[in-house]
Amino acid sequence: MPWVAIIIPFTNRHEHLKHWLYFLHPMLMRQQLDYGVYVINQDGEGVFNRAKLMNAGYVEALKQNDYDCFVFSDVDLVPLDDRNIYKCFDNPRHLSVAMDKFNFRIVFRGMSISRPDSETGRYKMIKHHRDLHSEANPKNPDKLRHTQRSMDKDGINSLKYTVKEIVKDALYTFITVDIQAPANYKNI
Ligand code: UDP
Ligand code: MN
Repeated sequence: MPWVAIIIPFTNRHEHLKHWLYFLHPMLMRQQLDYGVYVINQDGEGVFNRAKLMNAGYVEALKQNDYDCFVFSDVDLVPLDDRNIYKCFDNPRHLSVAMDKFNFRIVFRGMSISRPDSETGRYKMIKHHRDLHSEANPKNPDKLRHTQRSMDKDGINSLKYTVKEIVKDALYTFITVDIQAPANYKNI
């Protein structure tokens, strides 16, 4: 059985985390997976950088255990169907198909995306307002247009962060990282 690391980018959403753990742990146990949950907490008041936290989570989880499968989840996304198995498939898999977003990075690498059917892939997103320090990045459309050019040097291989604290709870590992996030989008 492969070991699955579940990575959650996080800052200041403890209420959601409580719900996520409450719903997900029983489901993950029913799915009989060997898994670890890693909450990657962005330190400080800088602009929230979800992708960087996901990358840091990948690196940190591997330091803890010999994982061979990685699942990335928002803290507010709760699957509605037990059959949506949190394991790895032959292709990168988009679990929350009802929350469709950008998938082309994967396509640039010559891979394709695996998905559950639309019944199994139903998700509930806990209602929330947009957080402070998490406004839409005005440069995103431009960045996305140039992904193919930037993706070889913008990711794990250029990742810089420092670990400030690792707290191991029975149900999850809470890792606080400083990713040197700028105070606003002007410098990104
Ligand atoms: N997030 C967080 N704190 C924030 C902003 C985002 O923990 O202040 C994390 C959290 O896991 C959240 C995810 O990043 O579910 C995506 O952010 P958000 O839910 O705001 O995005 P949207 O709902 O617009 O997809
Ligand atoms: Mn959300």
